[in-house]
Amino acid sequence: MEGRITFTMIKPGAVKNEHIGAILGMINKSGFHIVSLKMMRLSKESAERFYEVHKCRPFFDSLVDFMCSGPIVAAILEKENAVEDYRRLIGATDPTKAEPGTIRAQFAESIQKNAVHGSDSDENAMRESYFFFPEIDRFYKDSFKND
Ligand code: ATP
Ligand code: MG
Repeated sequence: MEGRITFTMIKPGAVKNEHIGAILGMINKSGFHIVSLKMMRLSKESAERFYEVHKCRPFFDSLVDFMCSGPIVAAILEKENAVEDYRRLIGATDPTKAEPGTIRAQFAESIQKNAVHGSDSDENAMRESYFFFPEIDRFYKDSFKND
């Protein structure tokens, strides 16, 4: 599946503001197949592990606190060129720099509360997807072809 999937989280702010449905709608309309989906609350340990690469950044503690502050929605998304296409759909990290029409332009509240996460490489997409979903909870597009 490497190269065909990406991993996303709808962050606590967007969940709290009732944007789950609108964001999943944009994801589907942009041609992504939802492989896996769940709502859950991250433990501090999981959030720290997930954002480990940012450990030395000044915003790390506040980011971890935010990511644990309420439920998130985690999903694996499938599409040709998934990582790059999804980064384009979500827009820039800083919502004031995100292209109009992107998820972050519409639903982000700030650079930290920026509505969604999207994997930044194929390798991280695989790592993040498998961290959240075991094989029995992954329903790739191929699995529907005999229906
Ligand atoms: P994500 O990894 O969540 O998809 P990203 O790849 O666009 O976002 P990163 O540089 O990986 O951006 O930063 C991870 C997250 O850390 C951002 O999405 C944002 O929530 C938070 N963040 C990044 N920069 C800042 C900052 N300067 N101040 C506060 N929070 C920040
Ligand atoms: Mg990132």
